[in-house]
Amino acid sequence: MPKLSYWERQSFFSNIDVLIVGSGMVGLSTAIHLKESNPKLHVVIIERGSLPIGASTRNAGFACFGSMTELIDDLSTQGEAEVFGTVEKRWKGLQALRSKLSDQQLDYKEWGGYEVFTDNDSESYQQCLDHITTFNKTLKDIIGVKNVYQQGDNNINSFGLHKTQHLIVNTQEGQINTGSMMKGLLELAYQSGVKVYNGIEILHWGSNINGVVVETKEGWTIKANKMVVATNAFTTKLFPSIQVNPARNQVMITKPIAGLKLKGCFHYDKGYVYFRNIDGRILLGGARNKDLENESTTIFGDNKKIDSVLTNLLKEVILPNQAFEIEQRWSGILGVGDSKRPIIQKIDTNICAAVRLGGMGVAIGYGVGADAAKLVLSN
Ligand SMILES: Cc1cc2nc3c(=O)[nH]c(=O)nc-3n(C[C@H](O)[C@H](O)[C@H](O)COP(=O)(O)OP(=O)(O)OC[C@H]3O[C@@H](n4cnc5c(N)ncnc54)[C@H](O)[C@@H]3O)c2cc1C
Repeated sequence: MPKLSYWERQSFFSNIDVLIVGSGMVGLSTAIHLKESNPKLHVVIIERGSLPIGASTRNAGFACFGSMTELIDDLSTQGEAEVFGTVEKRWKGLQALRSKLSDQQLDYKEWGGYEVFTDNDSESYQQCLDHITTFNKTLKDIIGVKNVYQQGDNNINSFGLHKTQHLIVNTQEGQINTGSMMKGLLELAYQSGVKVYNGIEILHWGSNINGVVVETKEGWTIKANKMVVATNAFTTKLFPSIQVNPARNQVMITKPIAGLKLKGCFHYDKGYVYFRNIDGRILLGGARNKDLENESTTIFGDNKKIDSVLTNLLKEVILPNQAFEIEQRWSGILGVGDSKRPIIQKIDTNICAAVRLGGMGVAIGYGVGADAAKLVLSN
């Protein structure tokens, strides 16, 4: 790659107040909040992909904030304050995102989030029933809505589901069009004067009393006063001390299905599998627990074993006795860790990390951007 010219450095990469690495929803949200707090800030986002290729443009678009089995599981390793504190952050993040972009732009539909229980899940279903009253009380305090979790068995037939014994619905969960959300955030960033440069990967960084210096794959050096790292699953390559584990997920979408009955977001197999309706099709993904070794990677790619698990699920549970064709397949990479709480912390005086968004980044991501913007400007 050629070296930067005098003009390029001067016009594109000088006097940067805050450099953001990564243009996923966290990077974009951070930039939007920074400009809201001070429109004069020169905010630059550097993104290695031609699009923000990580999780934000490749997810399933569940606007979810907590299904019962997952919360019960979380409570076995974390305290109530941490578990429900994270639920609250997701809820508030989602409300803030909806008011910033509008439900119309997000294509937000509050059709509920359902947990699917099969014959093998009777124990976990019973656990949910045991917790439903207390969870509803806690959720009422957090989001102000009564009976958020309800038994949903009467929908099993109307949704056309097979091999399903029970459903529990989170009545407040919705779904969005992921692409519209990301386009909307990108447009907001542009409108507020944020500069986004694609196809540049940051490989090294340094920080001293004068600010931050990064080096790109092309060997360019770029200086800024402050930096926010919003690289989620890819963080450890740049900052080995921040533990974010990559979790690749396979996704597929069918061609439109005549008379599709399914409506809403569905969590299956302890949340490892997820499916929803979109544009008269089924979008289905996950099942990384069926091949954890190969899916613990930052490298995008197919997985035949998981493909067949997901396809069987379509045949046997979601679309039994109905012909379907898969139109498109892709993968995306989540950033996960021991806790579901995102890492929003200062790495040094000039650098802040906002990473490890986990599987509910849609709800929490905009709020993570708000927190990161505050933190990076604080002393
Ligand atoms: C298949 C899949 C399905 C999901 N489904 C849902 C769902 O339905 N609901 C939900 O709430 N959440 C879901 N998630 C999770 C959600 O998408 C993420 O939590 C969220 O998008 C994370 O946003 P982010 O900005 O932190 O990370 P990302 O979107 O991954 O952005 C990080 C960006 O950093 C860039 N980058 C990395 N390293 C560098 C570098 N060195 N230099 C420059 N740029 C760099 C990457 O290219 C990338 O664009 C899903 C995730 C996946 C993968």
